[in-house]
Amino acid sequence: MKLAERVQSLTPSTTLAITAKAKALKAEGHDVIGLGAGEPDFNTPSYILDAAKQAMDEGLTKYTPAGGIPELKVSITEKLKRDQQLTYSNEQIIVTTGAKHALFTLFQVILNPGDEVIVPAPYWVSYPEQIKLAQGNPVIVPAEEANHFKLTPEQLKASITDQTKAVIINSPSNPTGMMYSEEELKALGDICLEHGLLIVSDEIYEKLIYTEEEHVSIAQLSDELYNQTVIINGVSKSHSMTGWRIGFAAGPKEIIKGMTNMASHSTSNPTSIAQYAALAAYQGSEEKVDEMKKAFKERLDVLHKLLLEIPGVKCAKPSGAFYLFPNVIETASLCGFSSVDDLVKALLDEEKVALVPGSGFGSPENVRLSYATSLEQLEEAAGRIRRFVEKHQ
Ligand code: PLP
Repeated sequence: MKLAERVQSLTPSTTLAITAKAKALKAEGHDVIGLGAGEPDFNTPSYILDAAKQAMDEGLTKYTPAGGIPELKVSITEKLKRDQQLTYSNEQIIVTTGAKHALFTLFQVILNPGDEVIVPAPYWVSYPEQIKLAQGNPVIVPAEEANHFKLTPEQLKASITDQTKAVIINSPSNPTGMMYSEEELKALGDICLEHGLLIVSDEIYEKLIYTEEEHVSIAQLSDELYNQTVIINGVSKSHSMTGWRIGFAAGPKEIIKGMTNMASHSTSNPTSIAQYAALAAYQGSEEKVDEMKKAFKERLDVLHKLLLEIPGVKCAKPSGAFYLFPNVIETASLCGFSSVDDLVKALLDEEKVALVPGSGFGSPENVRLSYATSLEQLEEAAGRIRRFVEKHQ
């Protein structure tokens, strides 16, 4: 059967493709090190597991309201007050099946055919595809590596047309780990207000910051920006809960209402017991979150140093998330490869190290390495990459 056009034009996720290849090699008995993962390698903290078990024992295993259980919404409003000093009511919150589905539903709700969304590159792989699925046009704006991959006000201004509906801000960023400062957000925000653009602020890596920089949500900067922003966040990365599929959106009531209506006809509700687990996560102490962060920071320091010792690798130190995004175009050419994609393929074949080529994120000179794996594995991986480069030079 001929599939619908919307599916035919989808670009398969490069992250998943490389992970699948690495898994297949592993299944054949090869000693593969996968640095492609987009999820923390820690177990979900036990107090969260206990809350889910208790919910099951208490029979909380039925449909819930489409937008999430009221007590979880309350705990999300408390989190937004605590961390962002922002005030939301329950009507401004929707609990979703992961942050990914919050974004998916949001684009369905705000876009008409031909509407444009500005997506700074490098970008998280799902943004352009989700926009296309909502019949919108992703307008990819390459941010300069020299500017730490941050969109400038001039670039934003130059990309706005009569069709522009929204802009995505992802800070800290996947794949680059960079963060916008308050001043930078203010400058971008002013332009958004001037043109009436909605700001989609993806803050999923908010808790994973390794510098003195403070996470700032663009919604914090003025009442006008608060009214023009939808915050996307969730427990996946902060509490090592990727498989539970709980995220949320916080924003203007009418948008959240539209999203809730959409959810009532698509997911019905996020899994009931996962919602109780997320409630425990938001109500609990952040001791475990901080422990994970400490481990990530140590890994970042080690891997960053090792990468810089590899010929041709250029890599600014990221501020947050759990990825490094080095420019390796010189390394590729030193090794005789015409593209970074070819280098990545050969590295997996020969040394069994899986990285994600930057082409999937709109940045073909770079690769993404996730340090959500043990220090030993990271050291071994860096050693193998170095050996590979020395062999091909
Ligand atoms: N936004 C960004 C930038 C991400 O990297 C991810 C996950 O990789 C998500 C959203 C989706 O998170 P979730 O697992 O909660 O759907």
